[in-house]
Amino acid sequence: MKKPFLLLFILVLTFACKNENNATPIENTSPKIKFEKPEFAIVIHGGAGTILRTNMTPENEAAYKAKLEEAIRVGYNILKEGGSSLDAVEKTITIMEDSPLFNAGKGAVFTNAETNELDASIMDGKTLNAGASAGTTTVRNPIHLARTIMDKSEHVMLSGKGAETFAAEQGLELVDPSYFYSENRFKSLQRAKDREKVELDHDDQTAFYDPTIKDSKFGTVGCVALDKNGNLAAGTSTGGMTNKRYGRIGDAPIIGSGTYANNATCAVSSTGWGEYFIRAQVAHDISALMAYKGLSLQEAARIVIHEKVAKLGGDGGIIAVDKDGKMVMEFNTAGMYRATMNDQGELEIGIYEK
Ligand code: ASP
Repeated sequence: MKKPFLLLFILVLTFACKNENNATPIENTSPKIKFEKPEFAIVIHGGAGTILRTNMTPENEAAYKAKLEEAIRVGYNILKEGGSSLDAVEKTITIMEDSPLFNAGKGAVFTNAETNELDASIMDGKTLNAGASAGTTTVRNPIHLARTIMDKSEHVMLSGKGAETFAAEQGLELVDPSYFYSENRFKSLQRAKDREKVELDHDDQTAFYDPTIKDSKFGTVGCVALDKNGNLAAGTSTGGMTNKRYGRIGDAPIIGSGTYANNATCAVSSTGWGEYFIRAQVAHDISALMAYKGLSLQEAARIVIHEKVAKLGGDGGIIAVDKDGKMVMEFNTAGMYRATMNDQGELEIGIYEK
């Protein structure tokens, strides 16, 4: 009777030892403990600003989330199939430009003169080539124009009528300016004008603070991506800020402020109060802190957004991905529409700070 028991004991012991030898060390099982470089990665934003739960209906929230998911999946599929980060960025941004939810393309905000003037830019991290357009009123998808300027012209940035002539010559889709009209955005302009009048009359800004007006200043879209060939790209598109005047141009089409990509460091797209993002050179500064100071993307983004921009008095945020596929989203506003996807197809969507 003792022999079978002894045999059983030896068998159990052998299995236990075998399993222990085959077990993966704990540090390899959790991506949080040991970062595995993904084959590709993509991050998008739909603008930062005073986005508060209290101002959002469940239907609205669902609509934003659905559109963010639709857009990022377009870029994800391109990257998964081995496509370029530039194509992923351009196509993903097009989806958001065609939606009235965001302040870019179809949903662009109104200028003081009741027009819609759109800005966009794109940058290739491999060649450091870039394209940007500013102040266009008839180009349906400014991100296509930015890409075409990069690929088909000897310039980096074109503006206004000249940019539109180039778009026409290149066969890009042009629309009547009324295509960009939306009632919500028009009402936001009227509210901004009313508030401006009240502020000038009474010099009491806080009493007339309205989060929905502050929201309407933001809503730019952007995308950054790393492809299977290790190439980074970044793009940004916007209608700018409600009630802007005199041909004002923000950070979105400025390479180094709104958009920057460099295969040696990272790809960045900004959203926020453009004047401050231009002065702080946000996107290039993040890359420079990595290149010259050896900081991680996360550290660099934190310093630029929470120290540099915040000290100047500006607000907004960035999305970024580094050459190893680490994805970062940093903002100093109440919220930022955002989403990430890695090569495992894991999707994360966020709106509010927490
Ligand atoms: N940065 C944009 C601008 O100032 C606005 C935004 O991000 O929503 O034009």
